[in-house]
Amino acid sequence: MTNNTIDLRSDTVTQPTEAMRKAMAAAPVGDDVYGEDPTVNRLEAMTADLLEKEAAVFVSSGTMGNLASLLSHCGRGDEMILGDQAHIFLSEQGGSAGLGGVHPRPMPTAPDGTLDLQMVASSIRADDEHYPRTRLLAIENTHNRSGGRCLPVEYMDAAGKLAHSRDMKLHVDGARLWNAAVALNVAPARLLKEADSASLCLSKGLGAPVGSVIVGDSDFVKRARRMRKILGGGTRQAGIIAAAGIVAITEMIERLADDHANAHKLAQGLAQLDGINIDPETVETDIVIFELCRDDITPAQLSAGLRELGVLLSPIDSTHLRAVTNLHVTSTDIERTLDAFAQVLHSGSDGAGDGVRVYG
Ligand SMILES: *Cc1c(COP(=O)(O)O)cnc(C)c1O
Repeated sequence: MTNNTIDLRSDTVTQPTEAMRKAMAAAPVGDDVYGEDPTVNRLEAMTADLLEKEAAVFVSSGTMGNLASLLSHCGRGDEMILGDQAHIFLSEQGGSAGLGGVHPRPMPTAPDGTLDLQMVASSIRADDEHYPRTRLLAIENTHNRSGGRCLPVEYMDAAGKLAHSRDMKLHVDGARLWNAAVALNVAPARLLKEADSASLCLSKGLGAPVGSVIVGDSDFVKRARRMRKILGGGTRQAGIIAAAGIVAITEMIERLADDHANAHKLAQGLAQLDGINIDPETVETDIVIFELCRDDITPAQLSAGLRELGVLLSPIDSTHLRAVTNLHVTSTDIERTLDAFAQVLHSGSDGAGDGVRVYG
């Protein structure tokens, strides 16, 4: 990979900023298992404050954040309703079932990342000895697999109210909730007003090297902290990494608007290309998922061709690819990316033989 490689595989591929490196080097630390790391404690207090919840706990990853949350809400055999395109359902090894015996009840996901709340309501189990007990509704904002779609405030409120009216809890997988807040121009806390818990990544668009935070009320966070420990997430002088998290939440949220503008620009350019299908209006944040509708080149071949021109992105299935903007990607990089697309798609149509040799 050269220095001017444009890496659009994810918003997780970033390097820590200079301010993060300095904060990490200078962070006062202690043993966090004793609750004595002042930097971790500060990050947790700042996050709880920012998200207007009673408490927060720092965890190693988004997967750990979700898992510790789910296991804190549900016991073995309890049911959790979630989307069939949710990251928790698709991409976390089924950890809540594997490790916690939580029964997942997947619902169809609309193209905008929402679940039909009427369908959710009618899926909640009655009190009957045949049935598991439905304890939790889990939603995702922004919704990754739908292309970073934002679930609006009204939907978030309605989901929470539905859960509470049926004696359930609402968990928000908010790995990219920061992006939703910036795109919708609301405070992140507003999106979580009715949420009983949420897990938010510091290591995606915000650029921190490691970590997520879970928020909720004090009782919930106490349970989640216990779960973090059994999951192997009790760490010692974690202030070294929490320090970068503090920079992330203080300096890196507003600039996500640049990533969103770049993603939108990419989507608009892609929509002009022959054989690519995308509606730029559906690109609300930093994720651009588009369809390749050509017989002469597959997503894997397209991505291999782009790689040779210094542009990295990910084929996600036999017809779709995903590009994600991030803090190292500039507006000029988007122009270069679009040029590279034009070049590869042009040569891709020159004949199947060439296509296979060059891009296979
Ligand atoms: C990335 C992601 C996660 C998991 O985060 P990791 O830090 O990779 O474990 C969870 N949910 C969503 C929606 C994500 O995009």
